[in-house]
Amino acid sequence: MIIRKSEAEIEKMARAGVVVRGCLDLMAGEVRPGVTTKELDGLAERYIRSKGGVPTFKGYRGFPGSICASPNDMVVHGIPDKTRLKDGDILGVDVGVTMDGYIADAAMTFPVGEISEVAERLLRVTEESLMRGIAQCRVGNRVGHISHAVQNYVEGNGFSVVQSMVGHGVGREMHEDPQVPNFGPPGQGPELREGMVIAIEPMVNEGGFEVEMGDDSWAIYTKDGSLSAHFEHTVAITKKGPRILTGSNSEKNVREPN
Ligand code: MG
Repeated sequence: MIIRKSEAEIEKMARAGVVVRGCLDLMAGEVRPGVTTKELDGLAERYIRSKGGVPTFKGYRGFPGSICASPNDMVVHGIPDKTRLKDGDILGVDVGVTMDGYIADAAMTFPVGEISEVAERLLRVTEESLMRGIAQCRVGNRVGHISHAVQNYVEGNGFSVVQSMVGHGVGREMHEDPQVPNFGPPGQGPELREGMVIAIEPMVNEGGFEVEMGDDSWAIYTKDGSLSAHFEHTVAITKKGPRILTGSNSEKNVREPN
């Protein structure tokens, strides 16, 4: 069942989105050779709580971290640990924040120091595929329009999209209907309607699309060991078009409740 949100609910999610954005901006400045993902996790948690938010991921089905930190061939769901980042790595950071009962969710993949040309291209293509998916978030389109736009752009650039994990509706729960796959034909899936809020999150592999789970039953890796990138935004469907709740201008986006 798809739960559409009122304008007041979307404003609450936008306020959570501001904290998600602030946390990712903080991470952008802290991701560097020598730092551990556990240290990043501590910084993120302190930041989120200082803003009055709760790190949504912490305790979710027993997940121990406040962020997911997924380096290199890890696709998503990395538990922050003593892994020390080194020059040339890439690091996916996924952040969820609950404020006043409502959730926003976003992710970025950061370069660590100087990265290879192909890694740089993987990051660029993945982020652009997300933006192309978001551009399809128009009332009357279907979820498949988003999926198709992402897949088309990624595969046109010689990379592959992960198929076994998908984006999702978001609201009071982190994972609501509908599922938002990053692949498939444009005419499929539920129709996009005003008040729907979805997290779109392309996971893009340098090599094949196949993935496998790590020994900790959380981390997902590319099967062929190639690099993987992940970008995500929480997006509200409005009659004026897509409204990114976790974007860089999210602070200005929050409207005062009337
Ligand atoms: Mg998500």
